[in-house]
Amino acid sequence: MMSNRFPVCIMLLPLLAGCIGKEYRELAVSPLSPPVEIGVTVAEGNPPRIVAGRKYRGTLETISREGKTCVVNRVSIEDYTKGAINGEISPMWPEESVKAMAIVIRSYAFQHWDSARGSARQLYSDVRSQEYCGINCEHERSNRAVDETSGLVLVYEGKPLEAFSHACCGGATEDSREVWTGEGCGAFRGRECTWCAGSKHWGPWVLVLEKTTLAKRLHKEIGADNTVESIKVAERNPSGRVRTIVVKSSGREIRMSGAHFRAIVGWNDLRSTRFDAADRGGAMEFRGVGWGHGVGLCQEGARKMAEEGKDCESILRHYFPGAEVWRITQ
Ligand SMILES: [Zn+2]
Repeated sequence: MMSNRFPVCIMLLPLLAGCIGKEYRELAVSPLSPPVEIGVTVAEGNPPRIVAGRKYRGTLETISREGKTCVVNRVSIEDYTKGAINGEISPMWPEESVKAMAIVIRSYAFQHWDSARGSARQLYSDVRSQEYCGINCEHERSNRAVDETSGLVLVYEGKPLEAFSHACCGGATEDSREVWTGEGCGAFRGRECTWCAGSKHWGPWVLVLEKTTLAKRLHKEIGADNTVESIKVAERNPSGRVRTIVVKSSGREIRMSGAHFRAIVGWNDLRSTRFDAADRGGAMEFRGVGWGHGVGLCQEGARKMAEEGKDCESILRHYFPGAEVWRITQ
């Protein structure tokens, strides 16, 4: 029996030959379970917002959830992976990096799979889960990478890993406990990354925001109608990112985590928490590198590792210390 988060009977089976010439330990899904099928909410609202021209494999069904009408695509985990991978990386990247990403995407979905219902507990087709747009986003090159890694997932201490990735770590990946609360997982303890330096998403980037704009975005933290006087980095964590930031507002000092500050300012404006803050009078200037939360696989780093001849499992071993690649069997 697995953890409460994954109530499926999984047995360790003897080693069998893998489809890419290697042998993997196997995660055997209970024979009573239906095939691993993922349910993805692809449209929601009243009426649900459906993107015209989008095509999906599997089936579409309409359900009601929390007062909203939702369109759910029920699709095999392999087809889901094909429709999600190119929302993260380009299919034209080196083959081993595309294969590594296919395993990451499949692992994330499989960790959310619920054997009792034979589908994901709740996956969305946007950044709340993983970007997914079905057939329209598939590419023959990434489809081949999915086929060649069919059924392969990351496992940590015998349990499916909710694998995360981000665009570019900026020099070191992040310990998940710095971003999300809780005990975290040993596979997300943060690793040095020398491969993404100088990549497209490395930067350096600069964000200049008027203090009046910052005050509006921070209104819940500082109180409505209050001003932002200054913002200072108070503490950095071992990976070099901002752990604590202090916002001086109307004579008070308000402390918050760097991750929370980034969420408030905007994920795409403040690309990472690896930044310096400088006071420019009426505005604050943030200079940083990297893009994303930094937890798990650094996509630009994986790309460079593959260019240098590393295979997909070497890439995964680096970014998910202690995790292993196993195969799902049904
Ligand atoms: Zn990196």
